[in-house]
Amino acid sequence: MALIINDLCIACDVCLKACPNKAITVGEDIFYIDPALCTECVGHHAVSQCVKVCPVAACVADPAHRESKDELQKKYEHLKALKAA
Ligand code: SF4
Ligand code: SF4
Repeated sequence: MALIINDLCIACDVCLKACPNKAITVGEDIFYIDPALCTECVGHHAVSQCVKVCPVAACVADPAHRESKDELQKKYEHLKALKAA
């Protein structure tokens, strides 16, 4: 499933550079993850980088975007193909 950033976010910027899919953008008060771009880091890293680097544990599973590892892998392949086009 894609991740979501909750209101614990202190807008520290750290996750922005860590995301391999450029799925994170700066919001008005907190940062935002585009669920269409988040693969939970599948295809890039064994663990979600935003979860790993966030100092306040604001990156959590988004129950509105449940996806299996297989679906996340397919999303990764799709994003890779788009990038190569
Ligand atoms: S889990 Fe990975 S791909 Fe998803 S927002 Fe976090 S760093 Fe980006
Ligand atoms: S690392 Fe955590 S606190 Fe910092 S901007 Fe990202 S979600 Fe917010």
